[in-house]
Amino acid sequence: MFKMSPFWEKVFFLLTFIFQGSSFLHPAAYAVMHRRHHSFADTPKDPHSPVHLKNIISFNLATVTEYRKLVKEFLKGGRTISDAPRWYTLEWFAESVWTRVAFIILYFLFYVQFATSTWQFFLFPLHIFMGSMHGFIVNWFGHKTGYRNFDSVPDNSKNTLPLDFLMMGELYQNNHHRSPREPNFAVRWFELDFGYIATLALKRLRIIY
Ligand SMILES: [Zn+2]
Repeated sequence: MFKMSPFWEKVFFLLTFIFQGSSFLHPAAYAVMHRRHHSFADTPKDPHSPVHLKNIISFNLATVTEYRKLVKEFLKGGRTISDAPRWYTLEWFAESVWTRVAFIILYFLFYVQFATSTWQFFLFPLHIFMGSMHGFIVNWFGHKTGYRNFDSVPDNSKNTLPLDFLMMGELYQNNHHRSPREPNFAVRWFELDFGYIATLALKRLRIIY
């Protein structure tokens, strides 16, 4: 959908690492998994379809297994990609289990220092699994619950929320599967894709084109 200069690509790669932290997702592995999802949406070859993986545990296990397999292939050099960002050193560092553990310890220390009440520690697991939980919400509910604007789309994609304040537009899965190359996931008058608005801002700043 968009491109960046090598400089900005590195900046955003680094920011992705910093903000995803313990739940960092390897961009190239994610790209392959996502394209596979689109090519085989809600068929048995879909890496994460709630139509075929009916309980939450098997659904998440299948997604993690597929993802880990792809990361391994990329890190060992057995797989290449021409149109997704790569940063070999950072990928290796971010995917290390010790780096993930270090982030979890940092989050914990942050809570110990700044939490003002015990209940706030219930948010701690959400921080550890932030990236994977985002994926779970979009892939599970986006192909299970909601309304459809395009019944002709031959999969189970749904628009989960009429106003997607939660996933910044990612939950308009039915619209997205109808036009996968369209940067704006919103179609109806009441739908609003906040991710697309951010994209427009980055375009205006000439960070992406
Ligand atoms: Zn989808």
